Amino acid sequence: MEISNKDSIDLKGKRVSVIGLARSGVAAAKLAQELGAHVFVSDQSDSNDVKQALDKLQDFGIKGELNGHSESIYNADLWVISPGVPKDAEIIQHAQAKNIPVISEIEFASWFTMAPIVAVTGSNGKTTTVHMLNEMCQSDNIEPILSGNVGNPFSDCVRHDLSKPNPKRVHVLEISSFQMEFIQHFKPYISIFLNLSPDHLNRYKDMDDYVSAKMNMWSNQTQDDFLVFNGDDDVLAKRIVPANAKKIAFSLKLDTNVLFKLNATKIYDQEHATLIILDDIALPGKHNLSNYLGAATAATLLGIASSKIADVMKSFCGVPHRLEHVENINGVIYINDSKATNVDAVKVALDSFNSPILLILGGRDKGGDFLSLYPHTHNVKEVLTIGESEEAIATVLGDAVRLRSCGSLKSAVEVAHSNAQTGDVVLLSPGCASFDQFDNFEHRGDVFRSLVKGLKEFV
Ligand code: ADP
Repeated sequence: MEISNKDSIDLKGKRVSVIGLARSGVAAAKLAQELGAHVFVSDQSDSNDVKQALDKLQDFGIKGELNGHSESIYNADLWVISPGVPKDAEIIQHAQAKNIPVISEIEFASWFTMAPIVAVTGSNGKTTTVHMLNEMCQSDNIEPILSGNVGNPFSDCVRHDLSKPNPKRVHVLEISSFQMEFIQHFKPYISIFLNLSPDHLNRYKDMDDYVSAKMNMWSNQTQDDFLVFNGDDDVLAKRIVPANAKKIAFSLKLDTNVLFKLNATKIYDQEHATLIILDDIALPGKHNLSNYLGAATAATLLGIASSKIADVMKSFCGVPHRLEHVENINGVIYINDSKATNVDAVKVALDSFNSPILLILGGRDKGGDFLSLYPHTHNVKEVLTIGESEEAIATVLGDAVRLRSCGSLKSAVEVAHSNAQTGDVVLLSPGCASFDQFDNFEHRGDVFRSLVKGLKEFV
């Protein structure tokens, strides 16, 4: 199938194979079906989740297979792949050898919407920033909808608007590096780059490979589009130089090429008027200030008034599992930062508190550099390790900080409870993936929350 001109693509009667039946795969299958394609879905697993997904799709008349891929997947004019499928998977090479175009779900959905897209990527802060931006954009002229890694899959949002296009629609997309593989035409009106730090090095060859995937986000942008980037991230600032879009920075330090400027107490807008007093901002941490500035810059480019932006900065109280306040038990504050799945997120969490910290760290190692935490540990009283990475953490940090192996999260919470004193912070910021002991980071955070709530019952 010819896909070089996206405007002339017509799926009617075309055979589309959707590989991977996670939420985005299911949504892509439904969108393709609605656009008149003959859809076939295939997943290598036969877990209950995918079984249920296939059952639902069969109700829509979509055929499929589980527990492995048969030759039927190659009987296709187009492949849409889920972000979970590695880009060098053998089946993808086979499809490409047969000249079947292979695209991501984000690319696929983007073909069928005319609404502007604001796409947010970065190693950390994406979810927080898209939520901030989504709230800032709710206005008389704009009806934003969140999708991508958060909220509904992009394909569902696009399908929803197919029958009744909404002239006020703006798609606010959270984009991971995996979703930027297999991009051909995807072109955000505004792309936002928050930061780059080593993450997912278990999936990518090296840092360069990982960064290159993210950079696909600006590859189709033209001078009519905007690239909003964190000017305080030197690696990022260098990587976006070749981009064609108009580049606008946001920064905690720079005064040039930014829409918002900061001094020690206030943020000023383009008119040099006070946007907000820093003490009035709801979320803690410089990293969140940076996220706010990224969101505010994009919102301004979309025509949102400064007063609305300031209101959101005052009221937005964060997303669960990101520095989430759980309880204050006898003056000890318990914080759930289960979403800190890499070492850089742990650094900003540690920098967000002035009080002594008991840090719960560990899980499935993603190849992060635990030693780089050391300069951020001046407030750390004790590190309580959990999960598979305990030994790796002890090897590099064991001599530098007080460290105790706890094995499980339950035991770490108990140890923290008995060792913490009034004024301390118990911080779950694991710096690792959760899959060694939990279903996902939400599960880990939920378990932490209920363990802490359980403590409260005994005090
Ligand atoms: P993402 O969607 O990119 O994973 P989240 O908003 O879910 O980002 O936050 C993930 C983790 O990163 C949380 O622990 C959060 O406190 C931390 N974090 C949020 N914003 C930033 C930032 N700008 N820089 C570094 N870490 C951040």
